[in-house]
Amino acid sequence: MRQSKFFMPTLKEAPADAVAESHKLMIRGGYIRQVTAGVYAYLPLGYRVLRKAENIIEQEMDRINVPEMIMPHLLPATLWQESGRYKKYGAEMFKLKDRHGRESLLGPTHEETFTEIIAKNLKSYKQMPLALYQIQTKFRDENRPRFGLLRGREFVMLDGYSFAATRDQLDKQFDDQKNAYKRIFKRAGVTVHPVIADSGTMGGKNSTEFQAPAAIGEDTIATNEKGTYAANLEMAKSIDTFKQEPEDAKELTKVATPDCDTIEKLAKFLNVPTTRIVKSILYIADDQKVLVLIRGDKQINEVKLGHVLDADEVREATAEELKEITGSEKGGVGPVKADWADKIVADETVKNLYNVVVGANETDYQFQNANLDRDFKVDEFADLRTANEGEPDPVDHLPLKFTTSIEVGHIFKLGTYYTTTMGADFLDQNGKAQPVIMGSYGIGVTRMLSAAVEQHLTEHGVAWPKEIAPFAIHIIQMKINNDEQTALAEKLEKDLSAKYDVLYDDRKERPGVKFNDADLVGAPIRITIGRKAADGIVEVKRPTDEKATEISVDKLDEFVNKELG
Ligand code: ATP
Ligand code: MG
Repeated sequence: MRQSKFFMPTLKEAPADAVAESHKLMIRGGYIRQVTAGVYAYLPLGYRVLRKAENIIEQEMDRINVPEMIMPHLLPATLWQESGRYKKYGAEMFKLKDRHGRESLLGPTHEETFTEIIAKNLKSYKQMPLALYQIQTKFRDENRPRFGLLRGREFVMLDGYSFAATRDQLDKQFDDQKNAYKRIFKRAGVTVHPVIADSGTMGGKNSTEFQAPAAIGEDTIATNEKGTYAANLEMAKSIDTFKQEPEDAKELTKVATPDCDTIEKLAKFLNVPTTRIVKSILYIADDQKVLVLIRGDKQINEVKLGHVLDADEVREATAEELKEITGSEKGGVGPVKADWADKIVADETVKNLYNVVVGANETDYQFQNANLDRDFKVDEFADLRTANEGEPDPVDHLPLKFTTSIEVGHIFKLGTYYTTTMGADFLDQNGKAQPVIMGSYGIGVTRMLSAAVEQHLTEHGVAWPKEIAPFAIHIIQMKINNDEQTALAEKLEKDLSAKYDVLYDDRKERPGVKFNDADLVGAPIRITIGRKAADGIVEVKRPTDEKATEISVDKLDEFVNKELG
């Protein structure tokens, strides 16, 4: 490809609203342009990278015998009403009406669409195990689209769905997909950790996210140094090492605790450690009033809480609700005589505590010497706490390390939620109707490209991983009017193009401009043809090399083949 004919509008400066380095690079390098908030045009350079990533996916899905297909973007609301997600999915769904007033939506994901096709077209256990996938644009009206391709309102996703007659089949399909995903990310040059994850609004258990460590990441993962434990912080477990020495139960006494609106202030005021305080927080879980207890030095994890309560929505009660329900303001709420609560749940850290401080359900008052079972009851104990960095992991008891990361993929065993609600049955070996067992698999393809950039930034640009680089080789001719240079450049372009994607900078530009642009293209090999062209000598440079190296043209093939494989 001749650069003079290529459309790659580069910029000296990234727009002021670009925060993420990958976003800045893709704008500066002319990979993408924003059309409206969270919606991008993929210019030729960006589209090349996207197509390469899609190619890798297609090859790896072929390898595990999963065929590609494509679903419509425009979906009828009725499909989503059937699964119950039309309301549940919330404000992220783009909804529209056609000229006849029929409600429609732009697909944010496609469980329903695939389940319906299966419901109508798969009849027997003999047709399974089966899995299908598509690479398609998805629409989600994100509250805060940002960081370029990392969180768009329109983005490209690989979404796959598996259909099985037995749990064993599903397990095997899940493992196949997991391994394929590992190969996809490896080939795309994106370092990922498969981590234990939350399955969110999709239902189902056994959820694994592929997390790409990067400073800009919106997620946090907790791992141990041996790699035997890795979880999204939303789900991470840790071992609580605190132990209180047993004490005799003392008399419950009410004390005034003015101006103690935090645990730290309360601990200081009463001169007790935070581990002797039990925090009580009122949550509204769907319609239930749930009082949640946790030891004073720990924090509640609302994702875990949602799972334990099996609630679609959990939120802290507002100040007004709190006052109305408990009679107290924040800080004064507690579990003693908390008859207004539909349920009291507690984190495991609340077990084996003696003579603790709890709110007295009166603003600025606490009870001292409260004891579980004598003074208050707990309906259910569970792990409800947010893990802290440094705490022992639950597998090898090694200190947990936290890393910010980007969720690039998510796979999970869906089970039969969609197939039962939407009537996707098959006849088993005994002729009995059973619901199909599903799995769901997704990669944010455009997000993955941003993750690749985040992980491969160089001082002035990017060092694209070989398999997704827009071009493998970038030939730069220093002087366009020099015949010897032109002859050599054209010859190399022709020879190398037989095997590799070559971009040849044949523009009449200053070398400085060309080199700056080359940093943004980030091809794994840059070949500069300059003064020594007549002597058959050129310069080669990889994006991560500090300096270019001279090499004779007859050694070039060997170098290129070694680098690009
Ligand atoms: P997030 O927590 O980041 O919003 P999600 O849980 O909503 O992600 P899924 O529904 O599991 O995401 O979608 C599958 C994949 O699609 C994600 O793993 C992610 O890589 C990608 N993805 C999700 N939302 C976006 C978005 N707004 N822009 C780009 N990629 C996205
Ligand atoms: Mg989301």
